[in-house]
Amino acid sequence: MHKNWIGGEWIGAADIQQNINPSDITDVVGEYVRATRTDVEMAIGAAHHALHGWAHSTPQQRADVLDRIGHELLTRKDDLGALLAREEGKTLAEAVGEVTRAGQIFKFFAGEALRISGDVLASVRPGIGIEITREPVGVIGIITPWNFPIAIPAWKIAPALAYGNTVVFKPADLVPGSAWALAEIISRSGLPAGVFNLVMGRGTVVGAALLGDPRVQAITFTGSVGTGQQVLQQAAAQHKKVQLELGGKNPLVVLKDADLETALNCAIQGTFYSTGQRCTASSRIIVERAIYDAFNHALVERTRALRVGHALLPETQIGPVADPSQLQQNLDYIDIGRQEGARLLCGGERLQADTNGYFFSPAIFSEVDNGMRIAREEIFGPVASVIAADDYEHALALANDTAFGLCAGICTQSLKHATHFKREAQVGMVMVNVPTAGVDYHVPFGGRKGSSYGAREQGRYAVEFFTTVKTAYTST
Ligand code: NAD
Repeated sequence: MHKNWIGGEWIGAADIQQNINPSDITDVVGEYVRATRTDVEMAIGAAHHALHGWAHSTPQQRADVLDRIGHELLTRKDDLGALLAREEGKTLAEAVGEVTRAGQIFKFFAGEALRISGDVLASVRPGIGIEITREPVGVIGIITPWNFPIAIPAWKIAPALAYGNTVVFKPADLVPGSAWALAEIISRSGLPAGVFNLVMGRGTVVGAALLGDPRVQAITFTGSVGTGQQVLQQAAAQHKKVQLELGGKNPLVVLKDADLETALNCAIQGTFYSTGQRCTASSRIIVERAIYDAFNHALVERTRALRVGHALLPETQIGPVADPSQLQQNLDYIDIGRQEGARLLCGGERLQADTNGYFFSPAIFSEVDNGMRIAREEIFGPVASVIAADDYEHALALANDTAFGLCAGICTQSLKHATHFKREAQVGMVMVNVPTAGVDYHVPFGGRKGSSYGAREQGRYAVEFFTTVKTAYTST
């Protein structure tokens, strides 16, 4: 039985959730408690109580704690990766990569804890000096989705602690295992009681309690657009600082001068890896008409060759879909695409394997119009919509014609078009001849329009969300 970590103690609960392996639904990964509203209030109380002490801790103390956590994550990347692959369904290689990334993020913010800086300016008035300093925001509520069960918690928890905040962390209900393992490492890292708290459970209970409590000064949320909009309204009503990372409908533009091998690799990796369950996935592939048929032909050939199967088998390239409701959503969008008049070139079916899991064949639609629902709504599965463009200008217009703005990619050998695209794509991240999904851990992450709200995450830019600025005037 895996319990919540509240105020420096493991606290049980009556409500228990089974964590099921999506590659084999007979395999129970573990049992995890679900917090009550009272548990969440206790956790917030503990974080509130611990805030003053942690806010005044030395940078060295914070750096040491974060470094220890990062070190253990990196040392145990293989067993933690196996746990992650077992509960979420991404392949073992992808899962070990995710744990590695989480370790690197903690190490990065161990360094950042030592580099918190401010400004000193002369006043415009005589005899007065001005200091601008950064202080912790306070108690931070962290709400995360299921598709990156350890990296997303890491990129929120590490900066929160580095900049002197205390934390109440609510992981996704579907994947509590990796979150619990991370919390267990954090519980042994030397943090004072109450600085970090884990409350697993339902969004409607735990999330709602975090949003409703005035002692929580900031909410950082990653998840779906619908939930994010509710979070924004409730957080704003209490003047909480809020940061949202939501969905995407990311375009990958392939121009006729692109290196075909590079473009196919970008399309396959960006669209289908991690079973398409990435906010940065290239779900719209916009191809210049001159190469449209040839590109589709080659893409279908490669997609059919992808090996879908149990996440822990070494030969698997595409793991299962994370749960039955996501599988149903994928199947529903295949029907919607057909009804809208798009042409299904391959995939889009539930697959049987040696184990009973949620396996789904990667799908490609051609003849897609950018106005169709399959081109406008986030499917969050391995489904590509290939859209024809007359030329570069048309491709750019199609790429930007979306409610989202997380990431955009282009495959071209033209410096002129690549440079123009980097400037004109209405997104937070642009990729030239690299897949839209797959980013570094030391630079900002986030988007525009319907994809994001508030300050950027990760890298040095994380300081904007996790600190508040104070301006002090002193007359000498
Ligand atoms: P979700 O919105 O269903 O859940 C996200 C989290 O919110 C979970 O922890 C959930 O329990 C919690 N929650 C649910 N209802 C709540 C409520 N009423 N109040 C407060 N919290 C509540 O999202 P998901 O299905 O777990 O994740 C998939 C989504 O996440 C996709 O849309 C994907 O694009 C997005 N995502 C975005 C990024 C990014 O950085 N832009 C990264 C990964 C995933």
